[in-house]
Amino acid sequence: MILLDNCPICQDGNLQKKFDCIDHSTSKEKFTIVSCETCEFNFTNPRPENNLLEKYYKSDAYISHTNNTEGLFNWMYHTVRKYAIKTKLNLLKKVSVRKNHLDIGCGTGEFLNACKISGYNTKGIEPSELARKQAINNFNLSVNEKTELDQFKNNEFDSISMWHVLEHVPSLHKTIKGLNRILSDNGKILIAVPNNKSWDAGYYKEYWAGWDVPIHLWHFSQINIEKLFNKYNFNLVVKKPMLFDSFYVSLLSEEFKSGRKKYIKGFTIGLISNIIGMLTNRGHSSTIYVFEKNKAF
Ligand SMILES: [Zn+2]
Repeated sequence: MILLDNCPICQDGNLQKKFDCIDHSTSKEKFTIVSCETCEFNFTNPRPENNLLEKYYKSDAYISHTNNTEGLFNWMYHTVRKYAIKTKLNLLKKVSVRKNHLDIGCGTGEFLNACKISGYNTKGIEPSELARKQAINNFNLSVNEKTELDQFKNNEFDSISMWHVLEHVPSLHKTIKGLNRILSDNGKILIAVPNNKSWDAGYYKEYWAGWDVPIHLWHFSQINIEKLFNKYNFNLVVKKPMLFDSFYVSLLSEEFKSGRKKYIKGFTIGLISNIIGMLTNRGHSSTIYVFEKNKAF
């Protein structure tokens, strides 16, 4: 296990245990979330060694299942996914008209393919073999298995997306420094992460699906993700709620808490969270942040 003695954002060593969470998706093992006393950043601590994390990821059968379009639930899943891809693409077009785009953790390639059709020169990174093969075979995309950013040249990309990926990367500092190096001046990075200050996170506490231990190593709020990127000379330029995530996360959390699928309750909590997210500064269950790279670093 890897045990951090300091907060990776503010370096403070005063870490308090928040609570234990169960890995509901795969191992059923228990992991501890700690909170930094100074900046309130939460992270999974201790966590499995990097080479042992792989076994906690959902199996390849999961990917095959989610590409199945039969049944009402799958139909809904695919409709929401289509809408989410369109929303993300519109956001990318709005913030970056320049053309070289990298999608880190591109999965089976649906978003990257939409970028390619819109005229972006695309590259992807995807460590899962089955997902990567689907992206390459279905859409003829350029997707690399290797996750290290040192494979790319300085200023190679005008925009980079990481949809629910940053919370999984073992080294935040190495990754964000690498993102800064491979982005062109004023280049944009689009990041979606769960927000542990959302109302649904507070309601479900240790049962909140957004903790997703141990594969979610870092648990961001709007305040500390901005602080982290400011350290690497990025400015926050856009913040956008992911409204469907509140429902999905609440349905899943409800199941973790009660052991049963409770659609109406999950939907209600998701709805309340979205309304509170709109009316207060707590934010939504998941948020997309767009950071711009400042010129001089
Ligand atoms: Zn801290």
